[in-house]
Amino acid sequence: MKRIFTIFLIMLLPVAGFSQRDWSQVSVKTTEIAPDLFRLFVGDGVAVVAWVGEDGLLVIDAAYEQTAPQLMEAIEKLSDAPIRYLVNTHLHGDHTGGNVELGRNADIIAHPLVKEYLSSERRQGEQTIPPFPEHAIPNITFTDRLNLDFNGQILEMTHLPGGHTGGDIIIWFPDSKVLVMGDLLFAGYFPFVDVNNGGHPQGFMDNLAWVLENFPEETTLIGGHGPVFSMQELEAYHQDLLKTMEVVKNAREKGMSQEEMKKERILKQWEEYGTFFITEDRWIETIYPFL
Ligand SMILES: [Zn+2]
Repeated sequence: MKRIFTIFLIMLLPVAGFSQRDWSQVSVKTTEIAPDLFRLFVGDGVAVVAWVGEDGLLVIDAAYEQTAPQLMEAIEKLSDAPIRYLVNTHLHGDHTGGNVELGRNADIIAHPLVKEYLSSERRQGEQTIPPFPEHAIPNITFTDRLNLDFNGQILEMTHLPGGHTGGDIIIWFPDSKVLVMGDLLFAGYFPFVDVNNGGHPQGFMDNLAWVLENFPEETTLIGGHGPVFSMQELEAYHQDLLKTMEVVKNAREKGMSQEEMKKERILKQWEEYGTFFITEDRWIETIYPFL
């Protein structure tokens, strides 16, 4: 069955205007987070992770289709081995678009929702987006957990349901104590919650709480957007988001409309969080219906 998705903003993520950019000018910044584990930041917007070892290369997320050439170039500087595994943390185009290049000779691992989404024809405004080519669609899927023995570590991949989308997975590197969270971490910013694809604001908060409870203090967190976070920073971020929800909830109970909340800027205290993709206003719109 073909599903027609009404939401189309996701292909334009994460920054409005990004799509009008001259893509050839977008650069990739590489940082070594742990031995042989690299974060590649594409255009100061989207994080990709590459892991190099004796078995070859494993890459997590592929950024945009349009930035695939410079991303490949940056990956090739790390190793001349082929990409054996490509993991998609979730279905959005700023994480899966590059599958077309990076997935050529790789097994692609993701939640089944990602496979379904990329295999389907989608509507984007007036346009119809065709399904991805076969080689760019995940061929290994799981719904709960998957362990992968690769490069001398057993990676633990876990599906955390109903947060950013319905099909987000996180990836744990036990030896390096690095957790890759995809868009379950918009580090330092209001998160995008894609309710049309199974996301839910409360689920998002529950997933953050679950991460805080289940990983060690010294864990390094790599989100899909924003800087690398410590667990302490995640704790503060989680608390802040909970406070913003409390503020909107209280205002709603007092009878304030969304428009009044925006006009009065009831979340002004957290204005820094609104400087990336989801503004203060959009965060109010996101959480208001669910409180
Ligand atoms: Zn996303």
